[in-house]
Amino acid sequence: MSQVPAAQFSIPERVTGFVEGRCTGAGGYELEVIHPGDGRRIATLVESSPAEVDAAVRSARAAFEDGRWRRQTVEARQAVMRQVADLVDVHREELAYLECMNSGIPMRHLQRGQIPRTAHNFRFFAEFLGQHAGKMYDQTEGYLTLVLREPVGVAALIGPWNAPLALTSMKIAGAIAFGNSCVCKPSEVTPLAVARFMELLVEAGVPPGVVNLVNGRGGVTGEALVAHPGVDLVSFTGGTQTARRISASAGEGLKPLSLELGGKSANIIFESADLERAIDGALLGIFSNNGQQCLAGSRILVQRAVLDRFIESFVARTRRLRLGDPLDPATEIGPLAFRAHRDRVASYVEVARADGAQVLCGGQAEAALEPGFFFQPTAVLAQDNRARVCREEIFGPFATIVPFDTADQAFAMANDSEFGLVSYVWTDHHPTLMRALSDIRAGMVWANTPMTRDLRAPFGGIKSSGYGREGGESSMKFYTYEKTAMLPTVLPAIPRLGA
Ligand code: NDP
Repeated sequence: MSQVPAAQFSIPERVTGFVEGRCTGAGGYELEVIHPGDGRRIATLVESSPAEVDAAVRSARAAFEDGRWRRQTVEARQAVMRQVADLVDVHREELAYLECMNSGIPMRHLQRGQIPRTAHNFRFFAEFLGQHAGKMYDQTEGYLTLVLREPVGVAALIGPWNAPLALTSMKIAGAIAFGNSCVCKPSEVTPLAVARFMELLVEAGVPPGVVNLVNGRGGVTGEALVAHPGVDLVSFTGGTQTARRISASAGEGLKPLSLELGGKSANIIFESADLERAIDGALLGIFSNNGQQCLAGSRILVQRAVLDRFIESFVARTRRLRLGDPLDPATEIGPLAFRAHRDRVASYVEVARADGAQVLCGGQAEAALEPGFFFQPTAVLAQDNRARVCREEIFGPFATIVPFDTADQAFAMANDSEFGLVSYVWTDHHPTLMRALSDIRAGMVWANTPMTRDLRAPFGGIKSSGYGREGGESSMKFYTYEKTAMLPTVLPAIPRLGA
């Protein structure tokens, strides 16, 4: 398919929910959708009321019960999912534009990363669907015991604002691949690209009602969704505090829950590393996606023997990062997603100083780019791991560097965190690498490489980074339940009661 040319894409004046294949028309509480590049209102978000949430869940429930999607053949579902991926490719410039205007994520990052990832999510699960198999036990004489996988029902899919479409589409693809229906709830800050994606799903052949959308504030729309008795399971990506509220509500309804939360991930650089590569990786690890990444390598632990060389190069490169209009293909760092978030990130400069950390570069809102929500890429040197900038997720272009002397210290510091999402290690010394794999307590270790994902493999964290995993088999386990069936190979004699 050919790609739609990058014409002037329009942003809808009003964004609503999407239920039973149509935008919901009802009026309601209105929120401004802002372009973080200049603080301008670019659309109005009409919040889905609890009544609309109810309609969305009922629509998903009806679609599930009548089997309009789950009873289709695997081949038919695969074909539709591949078509979704193809349509994402066709509309990738438009989706990137909407996401960029709404979130401030640079176009180059969206075009190379998040939008292709959206298509990949659907292609991946289409292929996975054709490959995964149930189980069979034949050890019980006279029986074949089959273990089948059944869709759970209606999934509530709640996503954050830092990678709205890439993360929400992973949830949608995983949920519907196995026959579930769903209701999505994106962040009120970034509804645009996910709303457009709903139309592409229907165009690709996903039956109306299988994927629905509600929009609005987390405490209103999100809470109504999680608490709704028609919801069977909840997949959430977001912050740890919100996760606690959602856990309580989902727990009340005994709903299975998957939580992908934040991190304060260690990026450990040993003197035995190829330092140039480690610096490239460290820059990418903290500054890509404007630093707003759950998997950011935000705590850079550097062995003291190479600390000065590391700082000199890292700071020089950080100062050269191109900050600016996220639509400009040359821009490396765009604005942060919303003003309050930018101000929160900026507040950590004083927090760092108060703990005795040294600000190496950046440290200020970018006055030249006001009224956009820009913050200069920042690096601080902390004295030790107790500083708050080592312990709290800042979620912006804010690197904390901490020195260490021995491998024991490095691994102890890496693990001395409330979080345990991912980790990075840079060394050419094989035994150190192997120790890192065994000693680091996190859901992922990237060795001598920045972040890459293999969707076959599980992704998720431990401790305050959440529980549950996304990825081929992990998603299958979450979005299905096991049903055991026993089939006699020869008809067994049945004891005849009352004969
Ligand atoms: P939040 O927790 O604030 O919000 C996440 C989503 O939950 C939003 O859609 C939000 O809606 C919604 N929400 C808020 N309150 C409730 C509620 N009471 N009930 C139901 N839904 C609710 O996180 P952020 O959007 O600020 O995202 C940033 C966080 O996400 C960071 O901590 C980051 O590390 C984490 N994250 C984790 C990833 C992972 O894979 N582990 C990936 C990406 C981000 P609204 O915004 O409208 O209030």
